[in-house]
Amino acid sequence: MRAVFTSPPIPWRREMAVNKRVLKLRRLFDDNKIDAIFITQAENRRYLSGFDGTAGYLFITPKKAILATDFRYTEQAALEAPDFEILRIGGNMADWLPGLVSDSGVNSLGFESADVTYSFHRQLQNTLKKKDVTAKLIPVSGMVESLRAVKDAGEIELIIKASAITDAAFEQVAATIKAGMTEKQVAWALEKIMRENGSQALPFEIIVGSGPNASLPHAKPSDRAIRDGEPVVIDMGAKVGGYASDLSRTVCAGQPDAQFKKIYNIVLEAQMTAMSKIKEGMTGHEADNIAREIIRQAGYGEAFGHSLGHGVGLAEHESPRLGPGSKDILSDSMVFTIEPGIYITGWGGVRIEDTVVLEKGKVKPITKALKLKY
Ligand code: ZN
Repeated sequence: MRAVFTSPPIPWRREMAVNKRVLKLRRLFDDNKIDAIFITQAENRRYLSGFDGTAGYLFITPKKAILATDFRYTEQAALEAPDFEILRIGGNMADWLPGLVSDSGVNSLGFESADVTYSFHRQLQNTLKKKDVTAKLIPVSGMVESLRAVKDAGEIELIIKASAITDAAFEQVAATIKAGMTEKQVAWALEKIMRENGSQALPFEIIVGSGPNASLPHAKPSDRAIRDGEPVVIDMGAKVGGYASDLSRTVCAGQPDAQFKKIYNIVLEAQMTAMSKIKEGMTGHEADNIAREIIRQAGYGEAFGHSLGHGVGLAEHESPRLGPGSKDILSDSMVFTIEPGIYITGWGGVRIEDTVVLEKGKVKPITKALKLKY
């Protein structure tokens, strides 16, 4: 049983970028030796179709673009994904997938190997086999992710909005942080302001790490009370229209000591130098190394244990990766973070992070939050 609905044409949406995204994806079929692709990854599904529901699959051939989803979402899908035919499906894949593959004359069906589990892959294989469909399943990776890495103007606009909400909340709360407040209180104050100012559900749990907790790059806010002179690492983001922002700052409640000032200024120099020297055409490895070299020269190379940055968009971590060994080539309209850090067990840590966009070959900051001077 199958029913294919075609949504009524909505004139103002016909020119949407979504259509262009599908065309760009199809141009990658030959290089990946596939003649159709089965999209399962949630952000990729949304990016290509515009459909924001939490369940569904895309089946894209050179001629067809089909969004298969269940009865909870068919109405929403028709509105959000006007460039796709909407196929209402039930719980049994055998009822629709083999028919779709054979009717479309597909011989090599790409699937997203980084998303499909072992058991789901077996299910796909068995479903096709049982209906005598001989198409091969071909693992592909990074196809949609490589398109997502380069943002269009509408996407950049949403990230700018999310960043503005993040920046304002940080500045408002940072001015109130003092000894005695708990990490959880700081995190909640930030979250509340961001939600009140229009953020959707936050893209990730806010990190507030004080004193020794700040040496954990991903510290969970605890009931620990912040003490005088300690570093407090804050990492936070908002979400607007599905797009995330990412901001980290390190503040000191009370008077910073000599060690805080020293570490803070090394990280700040590494961050600012990377901001000014990262250029279009560099690899993620080269970009990372600009900041890493400064931290290494200062004697803290071992204490910078994570990558310099990552792409930001529908996911808070996406392509490109700016880190050791990354061959990702940075290009205009990529949005990513620049976030060096130094972490010392028992003492704490410092991280400073901005979200930026590459424009005319150079880094343009999207984050505007104040960088404190110590
Ligand atoms: Zn980040």
